[in-house]
Amino acid sequence: MFVLLRHLGRVRREIALPRAQRCGSLALRHVDAGSCNGCEHELAASANPYYDLQRHGLGIVASPRHADVLLVTGQITTRMVDPLRRAYDAMPEPRLVAALGDCAIGHNTLGDPAQLAGPLEGILPVSLRIPGCPPTPQQIADALVDLMLSSRSSKIARCGCP
Ligand code: SF4
Repeated sequence: MFVLLRHLGRVRREIALPRAQRCGSLALRHVDAGSCNGCEHELAASANPYYDLQRHGLGIVASPRHADVLLVTGQITTRMVDPLRRAYDAMPEPRLVAALGDCAIGHNTLGDPAQLAGPLEGILPVSLRIPGCPPTPQQIADALVDLMLSSRSSKIARCGCP
């Protein structure tokens, strides 16, 4: 056990993610709008003990009512347009939308075009695009940590933390 913890500490020092900071946390609500599950695998890997997104204050929540960021993967199928809009409407302000993977960004042609609603940015205001098919866990972790740090100053203004 101690050997494992020692290795984990070394791995954490070696990866280039910045350290978690006070007042910097984001709750993510993930919605699969029609993916092949490749992006979900990489997103799950970014939460494993190697990348450890929770350490940086990034956590996936079950309800959009608790979320700061709507994280969308996959092609946007016509059936998912309404659920996506409802999830976005349920989120408290300030709220952000992130497109994870080339499909959500609108670069891929996965699926039947007749059943697709187009890129996410045509449906919701997208603040963050994470390209790749799929993006690596490192790319996902870096992009989400950058987003969290960039929104940190406004959070500090809201909560009054030093
Ligand atoms: S971007 Fe690639 S891995 Fe992600 S859902 Fe689309 S096809 Fe799958």
